[in-house]
Amino acid sequence: MSGQPLLSVRDLTVNYGHVNAVRGIDLDLAAGEITTLVGANGAGKSTTLMALSGLVKKAGGSVQFDGRDITSLAPHKIVASGLVQVAEGRATLTTLSVRENLELGAYTRSDGAAARARDIEHVYSLFPRLAERAAQMAGSLSGGEQQMLAIGRALMAKPRLLLLDEPSMGLAPIIVQDIFRTLRRINAEGLTIFLVEQNVKQALKLAQRAYVIENGQVVLQGSGAELLGDPRVQAAYLGH
Ligand code: ATP
Repeated sequence: MSGQPLLSVRDLTVNYGHVNAVRGIDLDLAAGEITTLVGANGAGKSTTLMALSGLVKKAGGSVQFDGRDITSLAPHKIVASGLVQVAEGRATLTTLSVRENLELGAYTRSDGAAARARDIEHVYSLFPRLAERAAQMAGSLSGGEQQMLAIGRALMAKPRLLLLDEPSMGLAPIIVQDIFRTLRRINAEGLTIFLVEQNVKQALKLAQRAYVIENGQVVLQGSGAELLGDPRVQAAYLGH
């Protein structure tokens, strides 16, 4: 990796009572890249993300974001620092319209209404379906559209690092392709992305850098292309 990583995680450990969900993992995310963390059910992926967002307590380890120690910051301060996790698709506010949900995403910002309106237009350009449904209640959207709205809402917080927890979950392959294509575009515009996925093949195709997690530990790492071609990954996750 050239230069300082945007996010550095060292020896991260998370326990739920006696369950050691994450056991001392190290991660480095380069600015401007998509990094993915893949693994099976229960491997510790969601727990890792929640620990980075400050939503579960860390038993040990440290998190540096852009040279700043954010290990012990409260969740809202982590968001304000620029590290923003996309809420689960179905966690959109169902009785608010699409536009109102997007406006709410900007609540931590202190810049003006004009900047927010411009960013809503940008979200609409990324997800034209949201523009068509701007006045519709979020609860009446399809699963894929709710996932798009959740991503759009996170973008409204002006992240410098976007965290996603299985955006492909429960969606038809064609919708997953659509969402992944948009993530590629968002990344090409300069945003750093950390993607947690069980859809190993698609995630490795998308990401420049990848980690494989098993039983709370990183067992393999490399470029997305390297891991796609790795016989161990193929045997364990790609059904080869
Ligand atoms: P999935 O894709 O199924 O969510 P994951 O890789 O994200 O899997 P985690 O959800 O992080 O895995 O779970 C890691 C381990 O911690 C699992 O053994 C899980 O059963 C356990 N675990 C997760 N949440 C809790 C909790 N609230 N209380 C106790 N154990 C938990």
